[in-house]
Amino acid sequence: MTSLDDLPIRDDLRGREPYGAPQLDVPCALNTNENPYPPSERLVKALGEAVMDVAGTLNRYPDRDAAALRDDLAAFLNADTPGAGLSGRRVWAANGSNEIIQQILQAFGGAGRTALGFEPSYSMHPIITRVSGTRWVDASRDADFGLDPARAVAAVREHRPDVVFLTSPNNPTGTALPLEAIEAVLRAAPGMVVVDEAYAEFRRAGTPSALTLLERHPRLIVTRTMSKAFAMAGTRLGYLAAHPAVVDALLLVRLPYHLSAVTQAVARTALAHGEELLGGVEALRGERDRTVAWLRGLGLRVADSDANFVLFGTFPDRRAVWEGMLARGVLIREVGPPEWLRVSVGTPAEMAAFRAALSAALTDPQ
Ligand code: PMP
Repeated sequence: MTSLDDLPIRDDLRGREPYGAPQLDVPCALNTNENPYPPSERLVKALGEAVMDVAGTLNRYPDRDAAALRDDLAAFLNADTPGAGLSGRRVWAANGSNEIIQQILQAFGGAGRTALGFEPSYSMHPIITRVSGTRWVDASRDADFGLDPARAVAAVREHRPDVVFLTSPNNPTGTALPLEAIEAVLRAAPGMVVVDEAYAEFRRAGTPSALTLLERHPRLIVTRTMSKAFAMAGTRLGYLAAHPAVVDALLLVRLPYHLSAVTQAVARTALAHGEELLGGVEALRGERDRTVAWLRGLGLRVADSDANFVLFGTFPDRRAVWEGMLARGVLIREVGPPEWLRVSVGTPAEMAAFRAALSAALTDPQ
């Protein structure tokens, strides 16, 4: 029997574990920050028709540059953030924002280069960084999971990274960064600054997007995804907005025809039905704020959230609480600082199940 250890795998991959949020069949999956609202019947029909339309051309490669889709994404961003002033030339798309991040590291990271992040943050940033052969350096966020601009700048000056990751709203904490912190990092950073805005559409009123900074900062990249607010996680469509020269850099590393004709057609159809798809966002924001208030009412510590999930704690034995909830059919996520747990915001019925399961797990862990 050949095992992984017997293969001539890269030394730096030996002993690594694959990424793995558990995919369990449970009544209530609140662990991967998906949007709980599936597409309506009308949209399912439109998506089916869009796939039918391209099906007859699948003998041909798709548009390698996904030009029409990028135009649609730019129009969406301009509506989301007035003043963004984007065109398709400043937008790039790939199979999920994870692939976007991978392409950024292929172009701007690599052997002898360094990427810096502020943890706790999205666990795939260091994983994709290392797989690209780039060195990962982590600096920490503040105790309240914010990021003091002076501390961030000090970390950038110390490590002089080729790529800096700022996640806002941050996963797993939910906290968003003020533009001053992002601009301070942009001024100090010698390389590219990536603001991962996977959860931007869930931000509270008054929380800004870094898109407004693009005009003044050619080394800024803002990444977004259709997996969260857009309720299209299964489509695998992530994208970025940046200076056109950054898009030129990514063209050097992307695989030819990386975005299938089916993906492009489905994503464009979803964007055309954006109002419906984003229709759940308001309800999710409300559920989130109610969840934060309920958890605080229990006397727990709860991070401020501008996203569709809530980080709460602290539990000396978080595994016991996580297991107690799973035993009651509610799957949440053991992620972030050791004594904290994260719950994704679901439907009102799912959140009622969450509250019942947590109350029960705290009184009787099983
Ligand atoms: N960035 C952040 C902060 C995320 O939480 C996620 C998904 N969990 C992603 C990027 C990747 O999402 P996708 O590849 O589905 O676009």
